[in-house]
Amino acid sequence: MVPRVLSSAIIEHMVSDAVHNSMVANKRVNTKPELVVRHMLREIGWRGYRCDWKKCAGHPDIAFPGRKIAIFVHGCFWHHHEGCKYATTPKSNAEYWQQKFERNRARDERVSKQLEDEGWHVVIIWECELKKDKIEQTRERLIDEISYAFVQI
Ligand SMILES: [Zn+2]
Repeated sequence: MVPRVLSSAIIEHMVSDAVHNSMVANKRVNTKPELVVRHMLREIGWRGYRCDWKKCAGHPDIAFPGRKIAIFVHGCFWHHHEGCKYATTPKSNAEYWQQKFERNRARDERVSKQLEDEGWHVVIIWECELKKDKIEQTRERLIDEISYAFVQI
């Protein structure tokens, strides 16, 4: 029998289970955008990048440590891309999700600022920018931003 009133501890537990499951699923889905960006970099001819660079703030998905270029490939849902149609909020536990998204966004901002203060050039690529209709534009932006960072040093 399901108890009619769930204690907050049980709810907390259920939520964290659901979050854990979606995070695991999300990780699988999220591997792909990173691969697309890595492929793009190789195509452009920028080699020598490192994946999941752990020696600086935020652990960028892709980094050129020598040139202090940090590339983050953000999922629109988890990082709550402003104004993006993929940045939805689940209807159940909406408040929980909103707080989570706010924390994620605040962390992203903090990390970018810290890296920039330490002289890194930070490039954010949103998952939706890798879809067919936007990918050319994204490639051009990537070339612009990274060439700039390459020239600077
Ligand atoms: Zn987006």
